[in-house]
Amino acid sequence: MVQTWHLGACVSLLLLINITSANVIPLRELHFNPDRYSESRGTRADEDYHLPKTVKPEFYKITLTPNFDNFTFIGTVDITVSAPNGTDSISLHYDKITVDTVIVSCNNVEIPLNDSYVEATNIFTLELETPLISEESCIIHIDYEGVLHDDMAGFYRSSYTTADGEERWLAATQFEPTDARRAFPCFDEPGLKAAFQINIRRTKDLKSISNMNLLSSKDTADGLVEDSFAVSPLMSTYLVAFIVSDFKQLSLNDDHHLYRIWVKGDALTQASYSMSISPGIIEFMENFTAIQYKFPKLDQAAVPDFAAGAMENWGLVTYRERLLLYSEGTSTSSNKQNIASVIAHEFAHQWFGDLVSPQWWDYLWLNEGFATYFEFFATQAVEPNWRLDHQFVVNAHQNALAADSSATTHPITASVHTPAQINSIFDTISYDKAGSIIRTAEHFLTHNTFVKGLRRYLGIKAFEAATADDLFDALATQADADNIFQNDTDLNVKTILKSWTEQAGYPYITVQRTENGIHISQKKFLISGETEEEPATTWWVPITYTTNNSIDFENTAPKVWLRNISEDDIELTLADNEWVILNIQETAFYRVIYDDVNYELLKDYLNSDNYINIHPLNRAQLLDDSLYLARAGLLSYSTALDLTTYLAAETDFVPWVSFYRALTFLNTRFAGTEDYDLFKNYVLQLIQNLYRSVGFNALEYDEHPTKLIRVTTLTWACNFNYDLCLNSASALFRTWTDSTSRINRIPPDLRSVVYCSAVSNGGVDEWAFLYDEFLKSKVASDQVLILSALGCTRDVTLLRQYLTIAITPESKIRLQDAQTVFSAVYSRPEGVDVAFDFLSNNFVAVQQYFASTSGLRNIISGIASRMTTHAQHQKLSDFVSQHETDLGSALAAAKAAVETVTANLAWFDKYRQDISEWMVAYTETTTSGPTTTTGPTTTTGQTTTTGPPTSETPITTTDAGTSLSCNPLISIIILTGYMVAKY
Ligand SMILES: [Zn+2]
Repeated sequence: MVQTWHLGACVSLLLLINITSANVIPLRELHFNPDRYSESRGTRADEDYHLPKTVKPEFYKITLTPNFDNFTFIGTVDITVSAPNGTDSISLHYDKITVDTVIVSCNNVEIPLNDSYVEATNIFTLELETPLISEESCIIHIDYEGVLHDDMAGFYRSSYTTADGEERWLAATQFEPTDARRAFPCFDEPGLKAAFQINIRRTKDLKSISNMNLLSSKDTADGLVEDSFAVSPLMSTYLVAFIVSDFKQLSLNDDHHLYRIWVKGDALTQASYSMSISPGIIEFMENFTAIQYKFPKLDQAAVPDFAAGAMENWGLVTYRERLLLYSEGTSTSSNKQNIASVIAHEFAHQWFGDLVSPQWWDYLWLNEGFATYFEFFATQAVEPNWRLDHQFVVNAHQNALAADSSATTHPITASVHTPAQINSIFDTISYDKAGSIIRTAEHFLTHNTFVKGLRRYLGIKAFEAATADDLFDALATQADADNIFQNDTDLNVKTILKSWTEQAGYPYITVQRTENGIHISQKKFLISGETEEEPATTWWVPITYTTNNSIDFENTAPKVWLRNISEDDIELTLADNEWVILNIQETAFYRVIYDDVNYELLKDYLNSDNYINIHPLNRAQLLDDSLYLARAGLLSYSTALDLTTYLAAETDFVPWVSFYRALTFLNTRFAGTEDYDLFKNYVLQLIQNLYRSVGFNALEYDEHPTKLIRVTTLTWACNFNYDLCLNSASALFRTWTDSTSRINRIPPDLRSVVYCSAVSNGGVDEWAFLYDEFLKSKVASDQVLILSALGCTRDVTLLRQYLTIAITPESKIRLQDAQTVFSAVYSRPEGVDVAFDFLSNNFVAVQQYFASTSGLRNIISGIASRMTTHAQHQKLSDFVSQHETDLGSALAAAKAAVETVTANLAWFDKYRQDISEWMVAYTETTTSGPTTTTGPTTTTGQTTTTGPPTSETPITTTDAGTSLSCNPLISIIILTGYMVAKY
């Protein structure tokens, strides 16, 4: 599944010191709604949430009749089961449906039974008066009724408005991980695979689609039509899907497969791009896996209300509209990348997840790690010029390094039992870190062995469920067959990979020169700067390196291994004036800290014309590692910031993505403080060359990475009131507002910058003009972009009104987008108090509005991550105390948010002086760069302030935002290619 908001990824960076996975809410996690799984269900033993597996489900026949007059549905399910060991008790799941009849029969003989239901675990138990015996096959028949809720889970309702203003209803499904049980009683565990035959009874004006192809449609006595679909292969319950709608379809048969894309009628033209790349991605996956796509067709559908980003239902992939629909002339380059990578993610799941599913949710990463890996490496097959192999490192790998450095992170292979626990691991660790470790394995095994090992794994486990050991065994067998470790018997694939998947966190490697080479040692990296208590964790670390007298950034095979021990020596020839760089192309999952001599050599080299000789991924690595090591107190800020000065000449987008990511943290901490102008000037001086290089205007022949980095660079420049940027932005906005036709000719990629600048520097008129455009827009991605820009206004009254609109059910802002509004507001320094006060004054209304989502939790965490003053800290603390009893499942996140603010304030007190002094020295020694309209730079930093910073400047940064456009982080999020929650 793909989650909306890559908050997980990016937000985590911003949540500072206290990066907890609870705070990190996810593009990928939007789907999941812990509020529905609150602890109010009572405390039960972990095993109570697992079915006893006395019987084995083999075949489901399901018939559903949705009713759009009263939003209910009637269902019947016949489940054929066997009892290998015989049993007199059957346990299965259902949730939020009403069971009317239950009949268990064997050989057409009904067996008397008593039933009981435990709401906390959703487990329905049938005690049989006559036991089932091992040879017979029996049928559980259940008649039931349910409600088509509007909470985007289970079998639920959604709607859209036609061009004529008519509201049309549809019903769709979202089952992963534990909501199939809301649509039909079932054995709702991923390891319990069965065949499914689905029947949908619908009115004649609608159509239905499901995983499999339609076999027949027949009229029923009550005036409906019953559609019957073919029997599926063995599959997990969470992958079953069906949609009943009046959607139109675009279809393509390329002689291998039938592709269809289903969307609301007036959006059909927006499906062309998705259709154009779909066959190429499937072909890549078929070639990679050497296994053909199994289903007779591949449907994709854009569902107007959709909690996750997208969902990989086998044969019927579902999406948020903005992750499938691309509108030429309106959608941005980042939208396009999001769409391509989400399609690749979901298509990769057709093999990794659907064909081979996790035995239990502990192994979720066997799905999401591979899907994340292919998000980049399969998309590359259809968009070869996007440099997605490099984007993987700066977006997924470095994102995971950030998220995995908190004390509360978890191992990739997790231990989960309850629905809440299961949902909580749809996070950066299961997606990006797992994807990164998979790439690490690819490089230490070599690509060919990696591919052959994966083919072995898929071949052995096809139509079955797997554990991590199944994967490791397949890779190990292949590694042995290819003698990858050259008879070095210490090295064992399973042992190596277990050290990375069963232990939380990762090491930083300290490198010190010795007489004969270098001494290396490993310690767990914690962003708090704390040292891990004994016994210290160690990993099997593949070590690659190069030196500047024999530069080789291409060979990523390990030269040596740090073998699960804390330190070792490496012999190599290293002249006094020669640098060494470890972790070539950042293929392995660790950070590197060097001695002072090496940093000095690297700084000089980077600041010479030779910097280009260092691979762009390692330039990105040096920035990312040093700024995070400094943030944790392991490296001096002066050393880390010294490395950044070479960026004044850098024009490759890859190192910039890393820098902007790390910069966002500093920006958030300095925003509104008296040293903020100093910080802005530092940034503007670094980016002026890049600004000149990419320019303000979009050019027809720009490469895709140029388009992406332009947006981010202009966003920082305009937000920091860089005159050239602001002037260009307002001139462009005027060409739109002043034209009589009101045709928007602003290039789509520039709209976020132009809108935000116009709203920020304009008044009510500009805001109202743009809000009107939101109401008229027919393109989902464009709507979200405008919603984000509307938060850029400095008018506090407007901001308050905007928040009110966001939680008004009758407004045109969908529930799934309402958090975007909050994040757009609190992402600006002056919006933090506005958003918090609004939440505080309208607590009940906000809580109720987001009751079916994790919105309240996300909003509290998001606002807190932006707080920079002791007064705000106090307000938040009071708020949490006051609502201790009614925050519900958001209470833990709220308490964590208070801790986050405490830690952030302490961090600022500790490092502010060093950073400011460095910036003073830097801005004095560099030639005058671009100036901001806020006047001369203030040179402070002589004192360590503990007082409340002022928030005088209207600058935006970001954080946990769903907000897209006007803040830099968001631009980075867009760059990542994951804009929306779970896939
Ligand atoms: Zn996924």
